[in-house]
Amino acid sequence: MHLRGLNNGDSLLNCPIMIVGAGPAGISTWLHLQKEAPQLARHSIVIEKAIFPRDKLCGGALCVWGADVLACLGVDLDIPSLFVSDLELRFGKEIDCLHHNNYFRVMQRADFDHALAKEAVKRGLELHEDEMLINVLRTEHKLIVITNKGKYAVQVLIGADGAFSTVRKKMLPFQKRHLAPTLQILAPADSRYDSEFTEKKTVVDLTAINEGLQGYVWHVPCLKDKAPSIAHGIVDFRLCPNRPRADMKKIFSRALQSRNIHKGPKTWSSHPIPWHSDEDILSQGNVILVGDAAGVEPAFGGGIHLSLSYGDLAAQAIINAFQKDDFSFCNYQESVQSHSVGMFVAKCTRLALEMYGGKANPLEVVRELFDLNYDPSFIMRQLLSRYLELHPQSDPVPK
Ligand SMILES: Cc1cc2nc3c(=O)[nH]c(=O)nc-3n(C[C@H](O)[C@H](O)[C@H](O)COP(=O)(O)OP(=O)(O)OC[C@H]3O[C@@H](n4cnc5c(N)ncnc54)[C@H](O)[C@@H]3O)c2cc1C
Repeated sequence: MHLRGLNNGDSLLNCPIMIVGAGPAGISTWLHLQKEAPQLARHSIVIEKAIFPRDKLCGGALCVWGADVLACLGVDLDIPSLFVSDLELRFGKEIDCLHHNNYFRVMQRADFDHALAKEAVKRGLELHEDEMLINVLRTEHKLIVITNKGKYAVQVLIGADGAFSTVRKKMLPFQKRHLAPTLQILAPADSRYDSEFTEKKTVVDLTAINEGLQGYVWHVPCLKDKAPSIAHGIVDFRLCPNRPRADMKKIFSRALQSRNIHKGPKTWSSHPIPWHSDEDILSQGNVILVGDAAGVEPAFGGGIHLSLSYGDLAAQAIINAFQKDDFSFCNYQESVQSHSVGMFVAKCTRLALEMYGGKANPLEVVRELFDLNYDPSFIMRQLLSRYLELHPQSDPVPK
């Protein structure tokens, strides 16, 4: 058989499992696989187009859910972090405060992603940095993956390649993506204007919903090169397509000026948050999507914890495929929906429609969401039940 894009004589490397992308979703997929089926992990590689340390635009706030997933994997990352226990919600003159011990661990993504990848490499991961997936061809039983470094015969391909996923574009039927635009700027914390750093609180300001923004402005304290800093950002999920669009730039500019920051749009960074909707297709034969490539939730767009949890889902799907010798992944969508990831995304979608559709007071909606998100038993129950399923004779606390 001759495959277009493949020259006769090119050598094909055998690679049963290839994970594309070494962000939280890709590395977590490998770590879960290594924990639950080490023999399969040994036959997996992760390719990453960048070289670590690489940056990813993000607030860098990992919530307790994400911390629980890492704890269950036995991952303890020693990187500069700021622990934040208070979340201040604003809607016009109304202010609500939620408190939970160490609600968020705020880190620079360059540090977090690098440390996570290093931990996986220490456990045996074969990580190919500076290797980019370019194309995928389908043969009868396998995929031929073409990268800038070589050609591979692949049985299972995991798209963990973020918001602009090439795996998704190449392998899944065309689907309109829901990409929420964001803007962010990192600025030194100025104690005259930014109380977030000294008070160790994150501010989520929903006031601009009144101007049509289907999102919010955030102020997240963090450490940048050890200096007290604040990540100021804005997102517009555009969940209700019929509502007029808000002027994001104007709202963001005003928010910055109120903090005595007078830097214009050229200094702002932008990267979309892809949110998942029910119609999205997440798998095909031999292929599944995880993390941003699959989509996160459209209420707050917090995606690090969901991406880490997608790793658990993907590892389970890979193990089932090899056990049953069935690589159709036709049940993947269903397993996502019945997992805490899918249940949380569904709940967030309902609440986001109420909040951004003007049907409910946003502060009440957020309280409901955060009560669920930060109920440690919600995610721990699922993680522990999976652990007990796999190790029925063992102590329920993973080592
Ligand atoms: C402005 C902003 C602020 C945010 N703040 C937060 C926050 O505070 N807390 C939170 O929980 N979430 C936040 N998020 C969401 C979070 O950043 C993402 O959900 C998360 O990074 C998704 O992880 P991932 O592993 O799926 O994708 P990514 O982190 O994007 O990783 C994908 C990887 O794939 C690689 N890749 C891409 N294409 C290829 C290719 N063709 N071949 C090989 N490799 C490839 C990329 O280089 C990258 O390393 C924020 C997002 C934005 C945009």
